[in-house]
Amino acid sequence: MNYDAYFCQRLDELRKEGRYRVFADLERKVGRFPRATLRSAFGKKEVTVWCSNDYLGMGQHPVVLAAMHKALDSCGAGAGGTRNISGTNHYHVLLERDLADLHQKEAALLFTSGYVSNWAALGTLASCIPGCVVFSDQLNHASMIEGIRGSRASVRIFAHNDLSDLARKLAEVDADAPKLVAFESVYSMDGDIAPIAELCDVAEAYGAMTYLDEVHAVGLYGSHGGGVAAQQGLSNRLTVIEGTLAKGFGVVGGYIAGSAALCDFVRSYSSGFIFTTALPPHVAAGALASVRYLKSSSTEREAMHSRVASLRNRLDDVGVPHLRNPSHIVPVMVGNSDLCRQISDVLLNEYDIYIQPINYPTVPRGTERLRITASPFHSEADIEHLTTALAEIWSNPWSSISRFATFLAQGRVERGQRFAASAFQRLR
Ligand SMILES: *Cc1c(COP(=O)(O)O)cnc(C)c1O
Repeated sequence: MNYDAYFCQRLDELRKEGRYRVFADLERKVGRFPRATLRSAFGKKEVTVWCSNDYLGMGQHPVVLAAMHKALDSCGAGAGGTRNISGTNHYHVLLERDLADLHQKEAALLFTSGYVSNWAALGTLASCIPGCVVFSDQLNHASMIEGIRGSRASVRIFAHNDLSDLARKLAEVDADAPKLVAFESVYSMDGDIAPIAELCDVAEAYGAMTYLDEVHAVGLYGSHGGGVAAQQGLSNRLTVIEGTLAKGFGVVGGYIAGSAALCDFVRSYSSGFIFTTALPPHVAAGALASVRYLKSSSTEREAMHSRVASLRNRLDDVGVPHLRNPSHIVPVMVGNSDLCRQISDVLLNEYDIYIQPINYPTVPRGTERLRITASPFHSEADIEHLTTALAEIWSNPWSSISRFATFLAQGRVERGQRFAASAFQRLR
């Protein structure tokens, strides 16, 4: 077999579908967020980033940076081993204590990323409890799906946020079987929020454990940044709360919080915890500083939510359609992968605005979108510049985008799709 030829052929398939991924080569600048330097074939320029998951700008916060510098200078670069073999640093211990407290749980356990925490914790719980049946929300993140799949436990997928579908599926399983219901609080692509209390009611009625991914909520919701469950006073109803240190907290790493016995069980049985080097001490120190800071300061959260509200209002003013939801995520729906990439290119090339197009398989085909995130550091002028740019792109009578949008608005979806396909064929 000609391996490289095979790889190239598969990559061409992605290009033909308009979902080949191209990274923007960015250099973020402390003190200048959300600005970054973009390097491309056309040279270097400064752009405004509108799609970062460093939602609160904690990645540049002086308190976080100072803590990281201090730990780097005192502890050195790496952890020196797995947690079990010489890698547990005092900062890991402190961070786990603070995370347990953040979620009002007995214990917490760190992992090298949020992805790894979901994959490892779900994989371990589902595979090490004999006969465990997992109930997984249809829109769960890839890391949860992979963890559940890797466990080889029996799994039932319930319709997104659908209480009666979950109840029906729970009822179909042996009443005595161990069960685990896994879902998220804020869903990152549509920005909708799960009915956590009601899902817990259903799970409890069937004696199931609950596992909540709060990755897009920690740091951002609740008076101390404990996420949506904390905000709604529901922390004690969840068996496991999982979070990341990379998004709202602006650093990197992941964790679960739960009972002391559960965390000790995962610590002791999970391959994805045991057999990998611990987070560098300065990373744990930076995350610790960020978590502690956001426990006591609501300024950043409030500023972000107010920026989001202004952005939505301005989008409404200029008539750019966006998905309504109760969270901080603003999805501007496009519905075609080529078009989505083209809008993103125009924003970058002509307006110095960077918004990565979101295509399949991150979202279902036909729901391609621009996923916009506003931080406390986006000014009113930035919002004005973005919404004006989008309005111009949407309304320019000569642009493929506006013609495509018109077809869609007239309900001529297929015509719109065919038009988009032929327009982009010509562009290529
Ligand atoms: C980003 C994400 C993760 C993974 O977190 P990382 O810390 O980036 O690995 C897990 N769950 C959801 C829902 C996510 O969006």
